[in-house]
Amino acid sequence: MDNYMIIDGKEIKKQVLDELKEEVSKLEIKPSLVVIQVGDNDASNVYIKQKAKMADYVGYDYKHIKLSEDITTEEVIEIIDGLNNDKKINGVMVQMPLPNHIDTEIVQNAVIPSKDVDGLSDFNAGLLFHNKDALYSCTPYGVMELLKRYKIQVEGRHVVVVGRSNLVGKPMSMMLTNAGATVTLCHSKTVDLSKYTKDADILISCVGKANFITADMVKEDSVVIDVGITRSESGLCGDVKFDEVASKTKYITPVPGGVGPMTVAMLGSNVLKAYYIQQKEKL
Ligand code: NAP
Repeated sequence: MDNYMIIDGKEIKKQVLDELKEEVSKLEIKPSLVVIQVGDNDASNVYIKQKAKMADYVGYDYKHIKLSEDITTEEVIEIIDGLNNDKKINGVMVQMPLPNHIDTEIVQNAVIPSKDVDGLSDFNAGLLFHNKDALYSCTPYGVMELLKRYKIQVEGRHVVVVGRSNLVGKPMSMMLTNAGATVTLCHSKTVDLSKYTKDADILISCVGKANFITADMVKEDSVVIDVGITRSESGLCGDVKFDEVASKTKYITPVPGGVGPMTVAMLGSNVLKAYYIQQKEKL
């Protein structure tokens, strides 16, 4: 049946950013975001432009620090330390991927938790694990926001997440668990993947393989969220074989225009949250 609804990430991103803009317009001091880039990766340049555009739209102070490819881990940490101690800076994010010689884990944990707007530090991941308020990883947080705004019930539903990265799959499964879903977390070692996906009320694919989820793997009338992004000559492609899967679903996200726009929207949301966390710390 072709009566499925396409989840419009661009529209929800606009709603989120408009709400932030409204709130920021009432603040005396503008919240601020610093993005650190090492090297000149093409994809990173695109993502950073989107972040600058978001900051400009919402009304944040924004700074882009572009560092040379051959900088050392210690030098990056020194720059982060300076930003950690700068009271005028509210959010710091380091654009991934970093060059191979830089220790990504050390760099990610160098940003103090209250400024870690990417939500990727061990500390913020730990708070999520304990179901406490924190700065959450932007992409899974964006998926939660899509589900919330489309009033898709999570509590009591069986949600299958495919992919267990620290960036997406694992925090996704934790947010859903905290929201009362029954979560099955699948990965490359899962035996008979479709046994699980076919039982999903909500299927969230975070794998990064084009056309990986096919119609025979999906339950009738389910919700399918496609986090995957694969770049091909014909453009961006998700994990889900949209043309054959969509008609089996109630709701489905497209690629592009589904989860993608939400990542930058939730970064925007985290910057304001970081600003409020730091205001409280001052008291
Ligand atoms: P990742 O670190 O490569 O993780 C991929 C996950 O998929 C791993 O957990 C892996 O399992 C699992 N996997 C691989 N092959 C599988 C198979 N045959 N069956 C089941 N599971 C399998 O990637 P990521 O950083 O999480 O990103 C996932 C995708 O989301 C990518 O396409 C990325 O570009 C996209 N992404 C999108 C956004 C956005 O804004 N929309 C943001 C971030 C990422 P193992 O752990 O067992 O290896």
